[in-house]
Amino acid sequence: LTLLNDLQELPADALFGIKQRYAQDTREPKVDLGIGAYRDNTGKPWVLPAVKLAEEKIHADVNTYNHEYLPITGLPALDKGAAQVLFGEELATEHEDRIVTVQSISGTGALHIAAKFLSKFFISKKIYLSDPTWANHKAIFEAQGLITDTYPYWNAATKSLRFQEFLQSIEDAPEGSVFVLHACAHNPTGLDPTEEQWAELIDAIAKYNHIALFDSAYQGFASGSLSKDAYAVRLGMKKLALASPIFVCQSFAKNVGMYGERVGCFHIVLPNQSEETNAVVKPAVQSQLAKIVRSEVSNPPAYGAKIVGTILSDPVLTNHWYDDMITMSSRIQKMRVRLRDALVELKTPGTWDHIVQQCGMFSFTGLSPEMVKRLEEEHAVYLVGSGRASIAGLNDGNVEYVAKAIDEVVR
Ligand code: PLP
Repeated sequence: LTLLNDLQELPADALFGIKQRYAQDTREPKVDLGIGAYRDNTGKPWVLPAVKLAEEKIHADVNTYNHEYLPITGLPALDKGAAQVLFGEELATEHEDRIVTVQSISGTGALHIAAKFLSKFFISKKIYLSDPTWANHKAIFEAQGLITDTYPYWNAATKSLRFQEFLQSIEDAPEGSVFVLHACAHNPTGLDPTEEQWAELIDAIAKYNHIALFDSAYQGFASGSLSKDAYAVRLGMKKLALASPIFVCQSFAKNVGMYGERVGCFHIVLPNQSEETNAVVKPAVQSQLAKIVRSEVSNPPAYGAKIVGTILSDPVLTNHWYDDMITMSSRIQKMRVRLRDALVELKTPGTWDHIVQQCGMFSFTGLSPEMVKRLEEEHAVYLVGSGRASIAGLNDGNVEYVAKAIDEVVR
């Protein structure tokens, strides 16, 4: 008891704290631009039509509608389909003997498996995270005893990428470090390297024998195209996974709307060694990952995996999903334009083009913590203290209101 009496109460999680305050707020109108979850044009959560069709299929089939355990490494249809979405059908098929996949508890679980794996076999490696990054990155890696550091990413003054400094930090890091890279739609800045910049970054990572760990939580949200948004991962597979492995953490939370069902995968692409070597290495790596999964969750959750696995193994449903992805990404893009235009119309001090130039779910608005506080307290508009706004929370009914609120706090 005395041991427990010594424990300190920690502050509430910043992001989930916003969600809670928003839910308790009785003012109208109120607007939630906090958590990165897609909302339709009426502000409601959206169950993708492809998901509804997959659910009907699952429920109609006596072989899939049950609640049996999945294999430790996950639902085979999900693992296979997930690798194809990420690497593209061609690369995934050609290099099947080099891709090791296990299902995970969404993207967070994939990062956790990665961290666990690194802490077991590469504990001396330093983990480099972008500055800024998703808040949980640091917590996930440090919880496994790994040492994290940051690489420069966002230039707040120019609202652009600190590309040369990013490149320099790759050169300066101890050889064989781990670089955590946002595969696309960087959270929180909404700013991705260009294709040319990716090529340079990946060449530098290869030159210093670093390990790239791609975090792919928003595939499809940057451009509307799943394959375009996999550019960096696929380039990494082609150029990096020659001498070093690459790691990829994949989430279906956002792009299939599986948030609470926790569907994801962790992939390791083995180096391009001889077939004989990889024939031995692949089962060894697979068994080590299975051991991690077994000791922690025994086996992964089934329901969401069946939904995503069904979508990915049925071409008609896969095409539906592609369309759904366009519905989501284009509505967000439209809202970016509406918000920028409204701010320009109001002659709100400052420049607002970055809202349109940034991609994915978020805009790093440049609003200060004080402005964010006033938005919440005086206008019931909720966003993260860093000034990150989830553009998916905007719709035809609230975008003008939000623009006026921003205008008021900026003046
Ligand atoms: N990585 C990034 C950059 C994220 O923004 C998120 C979620 O917000 C995740 C990973 C993991 O999300 P989830 O565990 O819900 O898949």
